[in-house]
Amino acid sequence: MRVSDPAVLERLRAIAGAANVLTSPEDTLPYGFDGTAALKGPQPVVVLPGSTEEVAAVVRLAAAEGIPVVTRGSGTGLSGGSVPSEGCLVLCLVRMDKVLAVDPANLTLRAQAGAITAAIDAAAQAHGLFYPPDPGSMKISTIGGNVAENSGGLRGLKYGVTRDYVMGLEVVLPDGSVARLGNACVKDVAGYSLKDLFIGSEGTLGVVTEVLLKLLPKPAARRTMLATYGSMEAAADTVSDIIAARIIPCTLEFLDRVTLGCVEDYAKIGLPRDCEALLLMETDGHPAAVEDEARRMTEIARARGAREVRVAADEAEAARLATARRSAFSALARVRPTTILEDVTVPRDKLAAMVGHIARAAASRGLKVGTFGHMGDGNLHPTFLTDERDADEMARVHDALEEIVAHTLALGGTITGEHGVGLAKKAWLRRQMGDASHDLMRSVKRALDPRGLLNPGKIFD
Ligand SMILES: Cc1cc2nc3c(=O)[nH]c(=O)nc-3n(C[C@H](O)[C@H](O)[C@H](O)COP(=O)(O)OP(=O)(O)OC[C@H]3O[C@@H](n4cnc5c(N)ncnc54)[C@H](O)[C@@H]3O)c2cc1C
Repeated sequence: MRVSDPAVLERLRAIAGAANVLTSPEDTLPYGFDGTAALKGPQPVVVLPGSTEEVAAVVRLAAAEGIPVVTRGSGTGLSGGSVPSEGCLVLCLVRMDKVLAVDPANLTLRAQAGAITAAIDAAAQAHGLFYPPDPGSMKISTIGGNVAENSGGLRGLKYGVTRDYVMGLEVVLPDGSVARLGNACVKDVAGYSLKDLFIGSEGTLGVVTEVLLKLLPKPAARRTMLATYGSMEAAADTVSDIIAARIIPCTLEFLDRVTLGCVEDYAKIGLPRDCEALLLMETDGHPAAVEDEARRMTEIARARGAREVRVAADEAEAARLATARRSAFSALARVRPTTILEDVTVPRDKLAAMVGHIARAAASRGLKVGTFGHMGDGNLHPTFLTDERDADEMARVHDALEEIVAHTLALGGTITGEHGVGLAKKAWLRRQMGDASHDLMRSVKRALDPRGLLNPGKIFD
């Protein structure tokens, strides 16, 4: 049966409640796309379940009727992962948004998959703890979406990504059965680490309904610094020297000149517009160590020719300096109607060369690009400022992206450091992985979801 069949809709309403099954075009329109520019799907039927039991019942019904299921959190994804496919049912988990428990003795937090990332960190902070992964979208993204994309954030250099904090998952499998994977034990080597299979699986293997997360004690002190440079190479050399000095700061983020100008237009922080690179640096930990590291990082930045190094005097100034980086995407997005943001990643020592390559790939095609990102992780966000209504310009953007991807792979990099493959990058995945690894991934998908009902068309054709 089709998802729009009245008998199917009746059963969905019986499971989730009539108010939580959306079918009218005006209600379902916002579920037809995510944060990825120029990607739209057909209008789906949307179900907003309120519990794991309801998710399982919906998936069982979909499996029995052969209806594809596209799981969705807040739809902030940047690779088209939650864009609906033909004839699908969108299972949107935002009603399942509870932080269920914080356990300070075991340093864990249990939450439903629709909980907002920032709410998870806030719940941890209330106990003097913190949840380190901080994607730029954390005020809106769900923890289920973070797990499905293995999201990273500004603190990734020191603290890692979502995978490093997932201790357990509750997952509804493609046949509607419920699996509980992992536990609160710090050590557990019983069998395959199945939870890891679901982290980063982009909704193609199962629906995450609950998470058990590891927390850390909140660092007692933090120092934020902002340095500006006459060249991207000087900023990159600063990063290399900091790491070589055995300092692992929590944040080493950069903006290029174009991004810097857009941020200044938008946030009016008082940044100099005539510099080629800006580096946001942050160190946290024991107060004495933080003071020492901040002093040494400032010295290194100056030795590498930083024109200016500002050290935040207090939390308020730190937040203001961090705004320069946190507002980069919004600032760029104001410039043209369409913003195409990529997340290619290269080994850290290749980042400066890659930024130069991106600028040339854009300039030679008459395109405007701003690049910012996680310098300490080698993770770049080249952001093309364009207009999807201009077919010729879009063709040039895609051509530039092809060149950027080819160069990234030649440098030993990856097509995606944090946004996932989804629809946007699947054409490049085999090129990066090679036939054997790509086929192995497909066989995992076939083993778990033999009928291909979960998020069809994502990651693979
Ligand atoms: C302004 C902005 C800044 C961003 N900054 C960052 C950043 O710093 N780092 C980063 O990594 N990403 C970033 N992103 C991308 C995006 O926010 C993340 O990928 C985020 O994890 C998506 O969460 P979501 O709830 O919006 O998921 P959605 O976009 O709804 O879904 C994303 C994918 O996860 C799957 N999915 C969602 N929920 C579940 C679930 N419960 N079970 C199984 N599969 C599920 C979907 O099917 C889809 O494939 C940013 C996006 C924006 C718009």
